[in-house]
Amino acid sequence: MADLPVHRETDGRSCGAVTGIPMNQDDVFANELLVASHGDICTHGAGALTGNANEVYVHEILVAGHTASGALCGLSHAGSAPTTEGSPDVFVGD
Ligand SMILES: [Zn+2]
Repeated sequence: MADLPVHRETDGRSCGAVTGIPMNQDDVFANELLVASHGDICTHGAGALTGNANEVYVHEILVAGHTASGALCGLSHAGSAPTTEGSPDVFVGD
């Protein structure tokens, strides 16, 4: 099993945006950044993440680690919007 770097607010997406406010939750942090979870969108306003941190939840929502897939981004050129970054030293699930 590989460690999964937790994805956080301001971490990048393949569409060129970052995961951003609003987030699903506002009080669970990693490296002083809000932890991303299932359904969090990018700053384009779409691209909802698919939570992938095995049995790690924030407020009962599955956490998203780096390599989480994303839904289609709002910008048609971008396609889906999986993560491109995660924490350098905080890991979740597998
Ligand atoms: Zn996007």
